[in-house]
Amino acid sequence: MLELLFLLLPVAMGYGWFMGRNSVKQNDHSAQQALSIKYSTGLNYLLSNQQDKAIDYLLEALKVEDDSVEAHFAMANLFRRRGELDRALKVHEHLVRQKHLPSKDKQQAVYELGKDFFSAGLYDRAETMFEKLLKSKHYGLKSLDYLMRIYQSTKDWTKGISHKKAIIKTKDKKLLHNLANFYCELATKALEEDNFIEVIELLELALTYDANSCRANWLLAQIYENHQQYNEACKCYQDIYHQDKEFFPDVIDKMHHCYSQLDTEDEYFKFIKKVYEETGGASALIKYLSHIEKKFGKEKSKEFILLALKKRPTIKGFKHFIKMQMLNSPEQDNTENLDMIKELIAAYLNLKPRYSCRTCGFNSSKHYWACPSCHDWEQLKPVRGLEGE
Ligand SMILES: [Zn+2]
Repeated sequence: MLELLFLLLPVAMGYGWFMGRNSVKQNDHSAQQALSIKYSTGLNYLLSNQQDKAIDYLLEALKVEDDSVEAHFAMANLFRRRGELDRALKVHEHLVRQKHLPSKDKQQAVYELGKDFFSAGLYDRAETMFEKLLKSKHYGLKSLDYLMRIYQSTKDWTKGISHKKAIIKTKDKKLLHNLANFYCELATKALEEDNFIEVIELLELALTYDANSCRANWLLAQIYENHQQYNEACKCYQDIYHQDKEFFPDVIDKMHHCYSQLDTEDEYFKFIKKVYEETGGASALIKYLSHIEKKFGKEKSKEFILLALKKRPTIKGFKHFIKMQMLNSPEQDNTENLDMIKELIAAYLNLKPRYSCRTCGFNSSKHYWACPSCHDWEQLKPVRGLEGE
């Protein structure tokens, strides 16, 4: 990469010098001379490895013509990719200062400058840049996306929501999904204060902007449960299943609690049977087994799990099978052995992350609504496969 930089700078410099020479009128020798001095000083600094001083001189000497704008952007992007943000900033700021640039190039320069500030964590300055571009045809949507990322980092949910109209206008699914999560953040605060009406209003808005926000239904279920409105809570849990089958294992116990409060467990197990048949998930299997055992006895339950594990083996399911064997074993020695196996499996599963981000693959034992790695909302879901669901 370093070689590329050293290649790019002299090439750009030579090109700029050529363009500059042609554009300087033949009789304007003094201007030409001044440019040559800046080029040679810049080159000297570059050769003596004083890159910052070299950039200053070369930028001043390099005439930003239509044909060389791309070279400037390429050079700045190269700096940014190398993590040399101060240098990228210098080039982009230089481009922004060029009064004669066409509007599209100028907007690109402002956008790139915003990205530099964002990468450097200078969010207020990045915000100023992106706000300038909100009406831009080419950069409006991208800038809005960056603004929402800034407000997510600064936890300024209300400011994000203030861009609601612009977001709705874009009809962009990702932005609407982000907006819904901003409402969920406010609802979480209102839930902590047990402000029933506010929570419901905020979450209804969240679901208006993103009907697939299972987080909104998860929060709704909490507030209904807190207020003993179990019917409504059960409906929210059912909606979560239809919204996101992969997230559902996380609410399976809470849902059971609500149905048992209503004394309608049969209905619950009817639903869980459907979940197991459709997903084959380990949590649904374990839940459903308790129902089979209660209704048809231990033997039937054992037959069911053996068949299920043959069809779709999971360590979680196997752990449950060992637990069932222990409860059914009359011999003390056998129970002790099985207990040891069960403990070993439990220790193994504890080492494994329960959640994985469907966007970037980040793994975690704790659940986060926004992925700590890629910052996408609602993408951390229970792990699938042999070591998961
Ligand atoms: Zn992620």
